[in-house]
Formats: sequence, structure tokens, C-alpha cells
Amino acid sequence: MNNVIVVGAGLAGLSAACHLTGQGHHVTVVDRERVPGGRSGLLELDGFTFDTGPSVLTMPDLIAEPLRAVGGDLETAVPMHRLDPAYRACFEDGSTIFVRFGHEAMRAEIDRTCGSVDAAAFDGFVEWLRTLYLIEMPHFIDRNFDSPLGLLANPRAAAQLLRLGAFGRLGAAVRKRFRDPRLHRLFSFQAMYAGLAPDEALALYAVITYMDSINGVWFPDSGGMHAVPTALAQAAEKAGATFRYGESVTEILRSTHGRAAGVRLASGERLSADAVVCTVDLPVAYEKLLPDLAPPKSLAKPQYSPSAVVWHAGVRGVPEAPIAHHNIHFGAQWGEAFDALLHTGELMPDPSRLVTIPTVDDPSLAPEGCSTVYVLEPAPNLAVGKVDWKSEAPRMRDRLHQFLLDHGYPAEVVTEDLVTPQDWQDQGMAAGTPFALAHTFPQTGPFRPGNVEKRVPGVFFAGSNTVPGVGVPMVLISGKLAAQRVADYLPGRAR
Ligand SMILES: Cc1cc2nc3c(=O)[nH]c(=O)nc-3n(C[C@H](O)[C@H](O)[C@H](O)COP(=O)(O)OP(=O)(O)OC[C@H]3O[C@@H](n4cnc5c(N)ncnc54)[C@H](O)[C@@H]3O)c2cc1C
Repeated sequence: MNNVIVVGAGLAGLSAACHLTGQGHHVTVVDRERVPGGRSGLLELDGFTFDTGPSVLTMPDLIAEPLRAVGGDLETAVPMHRLDPAYRACFEDGSTIFVRFGHEAMRAEIDRTCGSVDAAAFDGFVEWLRTLYLIEMPHFIDRNFDSPLGLLANPRAAAQLLRLGAFGRLGAAVRKRFRDPRLHRLFSFQAMYAGLAPDEALALYAVITYMDSINGVWFPDSGGMHAVPTALAQAAEKAGATFRYGESVTEILRSTHGRAAGVRLASGERLSADAVVCTVDLPVAYEKLLPDLAPPKSLAKPQYSPSAVVWHAGVRGVPEAPIAHHNIHFGAQWGEAFDALLHTGELMPDPSRLVTIPTVDDPSLAPEGCSTVYVLEPAPNLAVGKVDWKSEAPRMRDRLHQFLLDHGYPAEVVTEDLVTPQDWQDQGMAAGTPFALAHTFPQTGPFRPGNVEKRVPGVFFAGSNTVPGVGVPMVLISGKLAAQRVADYLPGRAR
């Protein structure tokens, strides 16, 4: 049995740990925090339980994969249910569209709110999304590339994508299919998850729209989103992985032959290993853990995704219908909002916001008669941003509070915590964004920083700044891809 160290017990590290343990390696996971999850973290305040990061959970099959690798199953490890509606979308004219699960239900909702022409267009739209997804997932997302030439490995798939208009722009592709501008926003705002404006994102990224609006949004039956990393960590541990929480890695060690040899901890202890999978935010990993190596060229002129402010509020009262678990409030301005976020580095003039109330589905996350509220407002990252967060933070908090009051949410605050881009930076995230490198074409697929450090054989990367990208589904795949790299590097040495 050989030793593999995984640095970081976020979702990428946990996925890698499960797959590596399943391969038969002896795996040690080291994380500076006291609990697993990383960005999918846990904040407990005055009897309220907050998820600190992802709230929109899609593609549960991708959680099932690492669990299966260590003999577990999703149904037992993290029982969860689909949210219907997935979102309540609120528009500036006071109208609402519910994103319903199931083709017929959503078609009927579009018919009710936008009319029969758009309802009919939904059929073709779903077909287009599904076809894109079925091509992209196996050929371009869930696979390792050794070079951009790998893109040509399946010319048929690339030609199909071209025919489907995947290399056009997402905004235009959605506008072409629907008349109602509200649907343009509803089916293209997901470009933001890839760090881009819909008119800048390739139509390829419609797969994100497929993942949430069509395939469904889920939520664990109990424990909130943090139940996901907890279950993955427990499954890996049960299968033999060792977890060392509360320990920071300060260096990736090399043998005299320049190969990965282990890690050094802040305590000075050295842990030896045959391979290291590092899931620390990539630019920070190079700066702190491999300081003598120049970062890859793809990090020379990085374009980072916008960041976000998250306000966690424990409030008295419970929301009434039609408030849903996830509520998106679209601002009146659209193009201007993306311009501010991405180009001029200012706050959105008329912000769009996500209000998530997990206690709608799991009241145990707050004391009796109370709710946990999570308000997310996109904000410029610190590379382009001109916001002084020290002075802006209290003003932002007051605006978000007023917003809850104005929109009928319970807003008598019992406890709270505001997280700004400055806080993300202080937690070690490059450019103060938790959403990593934007998915521009030069930062996508084989052009994104790779998961192999060729100069130090045995060092592999996973996480949102490497392939395939950002978000829970992608980093779970990322951990698996890194584990495949280890299997190739240590052939025949696993059980
Ligand atoms: C506010 C917010 C909202 C989001 N919303 C969504 C959403 O709705 N849906 C979605 O799919 N995705 C969402 N995401 C994105 C998603 O959460 C991330 O892409 C994903 O969780 C990143 O996982 P990771 O394992 O790559 O990184 P991380 O979770 O950051 O894991 C890295 C780990 O490394 C540890 N570490 C760092 N340095 C060291 C060191 N020196 N020594 C030891 N350990 C170290 C950290 O403690 C951490 O646990 C959101 C993220 C945030 C923050």
C-alpha cells in the first residue's frame, strides 16, 4: 500500500480521498479547519446553523460516485429531496415565475406566465440543453486532457457542439428561443456561476442551466448542505482514510529526485507520501506550498470570477407562501449590472440577489419559530473591484436588511454574520473570490490550469481553479480526475 496525502477536506479533496481510498491507497487528508467542507462550511451562531457556501445543490449523482468508490450509497449517507420549485424568480415588475421540476410542470408555468409561444419553445430548449449536456459531460468535462490536442480526440463530438451553436454566446442562444425577457434572465443568469455575463459566456455553459433548471435542485433531508461533506468524510474514514483536522500544510516536500515526497505541517511535522493531491486554491498553493516554482502560464494573466457578499441572518419568524427555499430577485438593470461587476469593478447599480431560507425545508436549522436566512449579492472581485469593504460592509448589511423588510421576509435579526470579498481573500482565495477563475475560453478545458505538476512528478491538483472548474458538481469531478492521475502515476501499486 502506498501513501497519498490530500491537502484540503473541501469537496474536491473529499472526492479525491474517496476515490483514492477506493483504489486501495492509504490516504491521509490534512485540513487547517476543524471540520470538513472548506467553502461548503458550517457556521453555528446562537442556536442557528448556517451553510457558509453552496446552497444550490445539483447533480446528486456526482456525490453518489465518490461514496460508491468506498462502498457507500447516497440514499443512506445523505438522504435528500428535490426542491419544487427549485427557485422562485421575482422580477422588477412585481411578477413571479416558479422554476418547477418536470417538463410538463415547467411548460405549464411558462404558459401561465409568458404565454403559449414561449411554452412551446421550451420543448426545443430542453432538447437542446439535454443534447449539449450528453455531449459535453463525457467528452469535455468528466475527463482528463493532456493537451489542447485532446479536444480533437473526438472530432464528432466537437462537430456536434459546433452544429448546436455551443460556441456562440449563451445570452443570444436563449434570446433566440424565447420572447419574454424574464425567461432570458431566468435561463441565462447561470453564466454567473461560470463567472461571466450571459453575453460573454459561450453557449456551452447552458449545461449549467440544464443542471439546475431542468435536472433539478436538491437539499439534504437534515443537516443542511454541510451534510454533504460530512457524509463524504465519514465514508472515506470508514473505508480507511485518516483525517488530520486543524493542521495547516506549509510545504509540499520533494525527494532528492524531485518527486513528491510528502508535506510539512505548520507544527514542523513531516508526513511522507508517494503522491500529493493539493486542493488549496491554486494560485495560493503555488505561492505558499511550492514557492520556488513559477505558476503555470495560464495563471500569468488570470481573469477571476466576480465575488459575492453573503449575509447570514438568524431571524425571528418563519416565511409565508409564496416565499420558497431559493428566491432570486432580478434587478431591473441587466447589462449594466454585469458591466459594473466585471468591468468597472463597482457594486451593481440595481442588484440581483439570491435569498435562500433552508429552514423552509429543514426547520431544525434554527430555534423554534425562527429561520436561517442567507442573502447573496454578487460583488466585484478584488482584482477589478474599487470597493472599500471596511466602510462598505455596514452599509451593505443595512441595504440587505432593508431588502428583506421590503420583500416580505422575516427580518427581526437575532444573530448575523456578513462575509465580504475581503473576507474571502483573508481565507486564502485569490482575488477575494470564492468562485475561482472565470470560465472564459482561454480558462476552460485543456486551457485551464491543469491538474498535473509536470515539474514535480507525484503532485496533482484538484479544486475549482483547475479542471473542470467551479461549483460543487465540477469540484467533485475534479477530485475524481486527480485520483485518476494518481492511479496512472502509481500503476499497479494500489490493491
Ligand atoms: C458563498 C458561496 C456560494 C456558492 N454557491 C454555490 C452553489 O450554490 N452551487 C454550487 O455548485 N457551488 C457553489 N459555490 C462554489 C462551491 O462551493 C465551490 O466551488 C467548492 O465548494 C470548492 O471546493 P474545493 O474543494 O475546490 O475548495 P475548498 O472548499 O476551498 O477546499 C479547500 C480546502 O483546503 C483547506 N486548506 C487551504 N489551505 C490549506 C493548508 N495550507 N493546509 C491545509 N488545508 C488547507 C481549506 O480549509 C479547505 O477546506 C459557492 C461557493 C461560495 C463560497
